[in-house]
Amino acid sequence: SAKKTNVGSVALHSQQIQAAYLQKIELKHKLKQALKDGTLEVHYQPIVDCYSGKITKFEALARWHDAEFGVIPPGQFIPLAEEFGFIHLIGQFVLERSCRDLAEIHRAGFTQVSISINRSVNEFKVSNNQVEQVANAIAQAGIAPNSITLEVTESIATNSYTWHILEKLRALGVQIALDDFCTGYSSLSNLIENQVDFLKIDKSFVDSLLADQAKQVMISGLIQIASQLGIAVIAEGVETDMQLQLLQRFGCHFVQGFYFSKAQRLDKCIAMLKQECQPFDATGLSGKNGT
Ligand code: C2E
Ligand code: MG
Ligand code: MG
Ligand code: MG
Repeated sequence: SAKKTNVGSVALHSQQIQAAYLQKIELKHKLKQALKDGTLEVHYQPIVDCYSGKITKFEALARWHDAEFGVIPPGQFIPLAEEFGFIHLIGQFVLERSCRDLAEIHRAGFTQVSISINRSVNEFKVSNNQVEQVANAIAQAGIAPNSITLEVTESIATNSYTWHILEKLRALGVQIALDDFCTGYSSLSNLIENQVDFLKIDKSFVDSLLADQAKQVMISGLIQIASQLGIAVIAEGVETDMQLQLLQRFGCHFVQGFYFSKAQRLDKCIAMLKQECQPFDATGLSGKNGT
């Protein structure tokens, strides 16, 4: 009867929930293990100066390849680590690794290059020694504080406690980028009230830019406002020459996207920097770094 079917489907549903939960627990264990055994890696995506075409920064992006599950994207495992309360372990790992890797980039001769590291709001809530952690990582790697940018979302900037920590980090000399701007409830007053060094326009906005006139008006205006506030704009997820040209026309300062390169291992990044230095390669904007 209909009643029986219903009962059956409820049972099936709860089985599925249980299976999903068990898989989550397994992933959690695997992720904690990956932190120890080195299968969690950090790759770096170039951030390119819109006009010189040179790589000025790399964004550090966590990468996880599990032997059984294959590649698990950060969009999946970062929220998992947040949910299970160990995002600060990943944060610490990525921070130390990328500071050391930046030191290596500097030793290779590219001393002007800096690194951009994602920090989640939960990290600020879980660990109360953010400032010391960052100061230590910088000191141990022997790099200048202003060669580090921390990427945070607006939720940090709108909370007075977390914002206070950011101010301390800024006092250290570390730079701050507002990530994923133009998603959610981004507000211009946040920009004015909270001092940040960079603003990152989210990929979803760049995606629809060419087809959407209203968004073009908004982005070009936003870039003007940011510029006058002394904030440099980074457009994320640039995939085509058309998008690049439009962003250049709007006065955008930096671009990042598959048009230039996806995130790569450290050795590949250093090779890209070396290639840029070769004569007759003034622009470096040809998308030659592969995707
Ligand atoms: P995000 O900080 O906004 O990073 C940019 C994301 O856009 C990256 O995805 C990057 O690979 C992707 N991307 C950049 N350009 C293009 C493009 O042209 N086309 C396409 N299709 N994608 C592009 P990814 O690496 O999957 O990271 C997703 C998110 O996971 C990041 O978004 C960030 O919020 C988070 N995340 C990654 N690594 C870390 C980390 O070490 N710590 C924390 N807290 N979060 C991280
Ligand atoms: Mg980011
Ligand atoms: Mg972003
Ligand atoms: Mg994004």
